[in-house]
Amino acid sequence: MINQNERDSTFDISPEQFRKLGYELVDQFSMYLDAIGELPVTSKKSVETIREAIGQGSLPVAGKSIEEVWEGLPRLLLDHSLINGHPRFWGYIMGSPSPEGALADMLASMINPNMGGWDLAPIASEIETQVVTWLADLIGYAPDCGGLLVSGGAMANYTAFLAARRAIAGNEVRETGLREIDQQLTVYASKETHTWIQKAADLFGIGTNYIRWLATDSSDRILTSALREAIDEDISHGYRPFIVIGTAGTVSTGAVDPLNDIADICEEFGLWFHVDGAYGAPAACLPSQSKLFSGMERADSIALDPHKWLYAPFEAGCTLVRNKQALLDAYSYRPLYYHFDENAGLNYYEHGFQNSRGFRALKVWVNLQRAGRDGYEQMIGDDIRLAEMLASEIQKHRELELKSQNLSIVTFRFYPKNEQGKHLDDEELNALNQKIMAKIQRDGKAFFTNAVINGEFLLRVCIVNFRTSRRDIEALPGLVASTGSEIHAGTSEN
Ligand SMILES: *Cc1c(COP(=O)(O)O)cnc(C)c1O
Repeated sequence: MINQNERDSTFDISPEQFRKLGYELVDQFSMYLDAIGELPVTSKKSVETIREAIGQGSLPVAGKSIEEVWEGLPRLLLDHSLINGHPRFWGYIMGSPSPEGALADMLASMINPNMGGWDLAPIASEIETQVVTWLADLIGYAPDCGGLLVSGGAMANYTAFLAARRAIAGNEVRETGLREIDQQLTVYASKETHTWIQKAADLFGIGTNYIRWLATDSSDRILTSALREAIDEDISHGYRPFIVIGTAGTVSTGAVDPLNDIADICEEFGLWFHVDGAYGAPAACLPSQSKLFSGMERADSIALDPHKWLYAPFEAGCTLVRNKQALLDAYSYRPLYYHFDENAGLNYYEHGFQNSRGFRALKVWVNLQRAGRDGYEQMIGDDIRLAEMLASEIQKHRELELKSQNLSIVTFRFYPKNEQGKHLDDEELNALNQKIMAKIQRDGKAFFTNAVINGEFLLRVCIVNFRTSRRDIEALPGLVASTGSEIHAGTSEN
């Protein structure tokens, strides 16, 4: 109803109602943080159970009261979620989120700036610009680079990829598309590259057939001889090599490609050098790792992912581009309906895919201020030290085989050494290890995932988690071995 002075609308709740609701939520989450280590990591409920929990009613016709909607909502989510902030969560590559990051997200939503245009988000845009500079500084990249925050690592890579396409193929490509370019563009990446590369080749008209999957050495790093050969061969066939992807921390084993050598080759052939540092780039802040990442500072663009090793809640990715102009060249159009102040700061809609944009930068800014360089060195360094510790415990264990440890990723498998165990072939070992992983996940005692390397199904622990303690890590080899023995002996319902 529209009265003279006041409108009666559902969402115009009173400050008192807001305060009560907010305090209750914060109270519940404080209790959650207090008990986080004692909860099962996941309760692995069936899809039917979960659908039942939310009810399968149709769209409500009449709205509900605050109490009806909110009562029990945090509990509902906590009881049916995978808790990736749990100290024993080591699956895929997911950061444990800082609780302050969550509060920053709420603050960002309350202010609700639209980060598409500076006029619409004056201080928020400046905070984003500072976050970009600080992230570059943290990982040793030129702080005067361009860049912006995006939803995650895949999007950070796409954003750089299109900028590279525009930079190499020229401005006409924006108007004519690739069909008018007389040479087929080709892409170089190792077979360990994350699957974003296929989506990018498809999305931006290159075609996945024109990704050259480079061979890797025994440590999963690009063989630069293979890169050189592939480029030479493509040139001799009249193709136009345009981008090389170096990964700084591969998804399976955390390998870092020989970035300096790749940079040399890119320089020699005039190619765009992109580093996918979605997982590993933040580790470049550690003096002890600087040699490993040497050459990353020479990249034309870098993708990184604050929602992984910088412990921001989802979503936060970041694209950095050495030449600021490259993003504008690829993304800027100036429609008549925008009248932003020319003399203000950056209008981020001109720097990437999104138009309206949320204030992701705030939680990253808060985290960067809270931790500082020292704090990140400490937390990331501790994650790596825990991975080293785990690797050495595994090595000492008779029935566990260590396969790799790079950065904070450890791969290994259970291999029973009793009379029956000795005769297991690879296929049986694969099946056994799959069951071990599934059982430990289902029991909620810990959560790790897998890698498949040379046909071997390996258990894979990735520690991107500031809550993991030594005790959590020390308990793991025993848990894996005892679970494995039970399953192998048939005493466990795998
Ligand atoms: C995680 C990851 C991605 C994808 O990032 P999202 O945040 O999941 O989109 C890409 N590349 C690497 C190396 C990654 O580790």
